[in-house]
Amino acid sequence: MGQLVYIKDVVTLKLDREKCTGCGMCLLVCPHTVLSLTNGSAEIENRDACMECGACAQNCPADAVTVNAGVGCATAVINAALGREGGSCC
Ligand code: SF4
Ligand code: SF4
Repeated sequence: MGQLVYIKDVVTLKLDREKCTGCGMCLLVCPHTVLSLTNGSAEIENRDACMECGACAQNCPADAVTVNAGVGCATAVINAALGREGGSCC
């Protein structure tokens, strides 16, 4: 199966490379291989594949990543599994 890609240019993911220490944690937790490490710093390589789950921001020890989590497909899927409203996703 190919890589899932969502609507283009709407993702809220932001990376501050000045703060990044290059620990690689965001790469480990990202389910869609959105980030990569280049010259000791993270880089957003595949922005449109981001599902705004928030795992990278939650696990970044340097607060270098921000994302408006909880509004995307990941939340919809979780809500659907729990039988809550807002449980539909593309
Ligand atoms: S929000 Fe989720 S999908 Fe997007 S870059 Fe972070 S870990 Fe990956
Ligand atoms: S988790 Fe944060 S500090 Fe570590 S590589 Fe990713 S952005 Fe950089």
